[in-house]
Amino acid sequence: MQLDRSLALQSRAEKLFPGGVDSPVRAFRAVGSNPPFVVKAAGASLWDADGNQYLDYFGSWGPMILGHAFSPAVEAIQKAAAASASFGASTPAEADLAEIVAQAFPSIEKMRFVSSGTEATMTALRLARAFTGRKYVVKFEGCYHGHADGLLVKAGSGVATFGIPGSAGVPEEVAHFTLALPYNNVSAVEAAFAAHPNQIACVIVEPVVGNMGCVPPAEGYLKALRKITQQQGALLIFDEVITGFRLSLGGAQELYGIRPDLTTLGKILGGGLPCGAFGGRAEIMDILAPLGPVYQAGTLSGNPLAMAAGIATLSYLKEHRGEVYPLLERLASSVADGVAAEAKKAGVPVTTNRAGSMFTWFFTRERVTDFASAATSDTAAFARFHRTMLEQGVWLPPSQFEAAFVSTAHSMADVEMTIAAARRAFAQ
Ligand SMILES: *Cc1c(COP(=O)(O)O)cnc(C)c1O
Repeated sequence: MQLDRSLALQSRAEKLFPGGVDSPVRAFRAVGSNPPFVVKAAGASLWDADGNQYLDYFGSWGPMILGHAFSPAVEAIQKAAAASASFGASTPAEADLAEIVAQAFPSIEKMRFVSSGTEATMTALRLARAFTGRKYVVKFEGCYHGHADGLLVKAGSGVATFGIPGSAGVPEEVAHFTLALPYNNVSAVEAAFAAHPNQIACVIVEPVVGNMGCVPPAEGYLKALRKITQQQGALLIFDEVITGFRLSLGGAQELYGIRPDLTTLGKILGGGLPCGAFGGRAEIMDILAPLGPVYQAGTLSGNPLAMAAGIATLSYLKEHRGEVYPLLERLASSVADGVAAEAKKAGVPVTTNRAGSMFTWFFTRERVTDFASAATSDTAAFARFHRTMLEQGVWLPPSQFEAAFVSTAHSMADVEMTIAAARRAFAQ
C-alpha cells in the first residue's frame, strides 16, 4: 500500500498543528504508524490522498450511523447552505430538531443545542452544581466526557490512549471536586456519597462506555445509580454523546429503561456537522439564562447546517427504526463474533465486548468490565493487529481504548472481507 502523499501531507501538517492533528485521537501514535489523509468517503468506504480505499469502522468516531455522504443529509445541508450558513437568530429548524429529540428521549423536556459534546457535558455539570448548590461531581475511570477541566480526571479516549492520568493545566483545586470511581462498581458510589454527604451535585456516566473501548453496564448497575442519586438528592447525567440514537433511537436510556435528570447528546445528533445538546427536566433547564442565573451561550449554537443534517439523519432513523437497528445488530454481531472466532482459532487471547453497533476486541484474556480490566490489554498486540488490518484496507479506531462502529452502509460482504483480513492478521 502506497502512502507517499499521506506521508507528505503529514509532514506539512506537523509544521502547522501539534502532532499534525486537530484532535489527538487522529494521530496514529498509539498504533505506531502514520494516519492516511482522507480526501473523500461514501457509504462505508474512505479514500485517502494516495487513492487507497478503506472499510470504515470508526464512522467519524460515531456520527456516521447511516454511512458517509448519506444523500438526504447532503441535500439538506446544500439547501440550508444556499439560504446562508448562519444567522445568529432563532430559526424554525431548531425546534424541528428539538421535537424529534424530545420525542425520542422522554426525559428531555427542554434542551439547548451547542456545537460539541464537550460544551454539552461542561454545561450539564454547571447546571447540576447550580441546581443542587453542591460542588462535587462523580465520574467513572475510563469514561470520557469531553475536555472540560473538571472532567479530565482519569478520563478515557485519547487521555487513556496516551496514558495521561489527568491533564496538565487543570488546577488541583478544580480536579479536587471530581471524584473518579471504578465503573460497574455500586459500592464505590455508595462510599463516595457516604464520604461527602450532601456535597455531590451529580453522577455523570456513559451508560454504555465507548471511550475505554466498549464496556456495557453490569446487570442492575444503571438502576442502582438512579436509585442512589435519587436518595441522595444528586442529579444523574447520562452522557449519551455516543449511545444516543445508536443503541436505539432513544439511546441507552430507552434500552435500559432509566430516566436520567439530564442527558448530553452529540455525534449522530448533528449528522456529521458540529452539534451537541444537553437537556432534561424543565425545572433544571429553566435556571439557564435568560430565565435564570446559570450562564451558557454559543455564537453558532443551533447552526442551520447542523440542524438540517441532524433533522435529515434523525428523521431517517425514526422512520426506519424497525429496519435500521436490527440491521446494525446483525452486522455488528456478525463482524464482532466472526473476528472473535478467528482469534480463538489462532490462539490469540481476545475478549469481545459489544452493545448493539458498538464493539471492541480487547487483546486480553480477562473479562473487561471497567478501566482496570481494559488496561490489561496487550496494546502492542492491538497495534500490530491494527496495522495489518489497515494494510488490508480495514480502518479500525487507532487505539485499543476506543469502540468500533458499523453503519447501515456496511454489508455482509464487508463483514466477510473483515473476518478474512483478521484471519490473516492473527496468523502473523
Ligand atoms: C465524543 C464524546 C464527547 C465529546 O464530544 P466532542 O464533540 O468531541 O466535544 C463527550 N462524551 C462522550 C461520551 C463522547 O464520546
